[in-house]
Amino acid sequence: MAAVLVTGGAGYIGSHMVHALAEAGENVVVVDNLSTGFAQFLPQHVPLVIADAGDESLVERVIGEHGVESIIHFAGSVVVPESMRDPLGYYRNNTMTTRSLINAAVKRGVGRFIFSSTAAVYGNPDHVPVREDATTRPLSPYGFSKLMSEIMLHDAASAYGLNYVVLRYFNVAGADPKGRMGLATIGATHLLKIAVEAATGQRAKIDVFGTDYPTPDGSCIRDFIHVADLAEAHRAALSYLRGGGASVTLNCGYGRGYSVLETIEAVRRVSGRNFAVQYAQRRPGDIMTMVADTSRMRATLDWAPRYDNLETIAAHALAWEEKLFRERHGEVRHAASA
Ligand code: UDP
Repeated sequence: MAAVLVTGGAGYIGSHMVHALAEAGENVVVVDNLSTGFAQFLPQHVPLVIADAGDESLVERVIGEHGVESIIHFAGSVVVPESMRDPLGYYRNNTMTTRSLINAAVKRGVGRFIFSSTAAVYGNPDHVPVREDATTRPLSPYGFSKLMSEIMLHDAASAYGLNYVVLRYFNVAGADPKGRMGLATIGATHLLKIAVEAATGQRAKIDVFGTDYPTPDGSCIRDFIHVADLAEAHRAALSYLRGGGASVTLNCGYGRGYSVLETIEAVRRVSGRNFAVQYAQRRPGDIMTMVADTSRMRATLDWAPRYDNLETIAAHALAWEEKLFRERHGEVRHAASA
């Protein structure tokens, strides 16, 4: 049976993808160098090739040995401030790796390619909700490394007959509803991760970066999408391509925003723990409001969200954090309750 190659399949989003594909009865093979992924996130029977997704001859071999017919490419580096300090590292890990992978796909006749992109390609949007045809003006090497990959994919598709779906993720959050995997990166800076770390007593407080924005409560607004819904969007993208769909670029969000303060409140409510919240200075480079226009995605893919609820996202993130904390420290310390 033909297989789907998932690069970065041992990572946060990739592992949700691998489980979703395996549960749907697909044949899957993972290439992951385990630099930020965890082999234990993978189902037992799914083959893991521990290697760099940019190792072109190895990927060609994997394609041949497993009969790969589609590639879903998650592997890459994702930390915006790190990309400012090490831009060439980001152009290597993201842009050059994607180039190698596309080349391997073209040489081996793999006709379908799904690519993890990001709302960071838009930079500071002129209009929100932001549409896919908005001007792309990334503010970081991370955003550029993804945009350059999108451009290569577009050009390769025109020249070599590859079909692709580019998915531009908004704020991915939550964890596996069954508790098998979630965000496990040490030192992650994402809002919900920080909030659940505070709720589990691993941090004394959470800072709110900016409460003087011209938004209803003064804090920034984000479009959070549950990681399991995002994985399902990739499955829908695969079905779309298998059904002969033309190459397309799609926003991946729910199309509505929650403020930073609302998000922290949701974590307080679901945890029942009244951890300290401190109002702080704006974080340099933050965009005020980032919300997807999802009309193209909803019109193109046979996809409907299952977890479009901030409290559900917060509850899953919290349950995962508690599990992680128990595994790492053997207990859950409770933050002071009100
Ligand atoms: N944020 C915050 N406190 C934190 C972490 C994040 O106030 O400890 C804010 C951040 O300033 C931004 C929003 O939460 O307005 C989302 O930030 P995150 O880093 O999660 O994702 P981004 O949208 O920057 O990719």
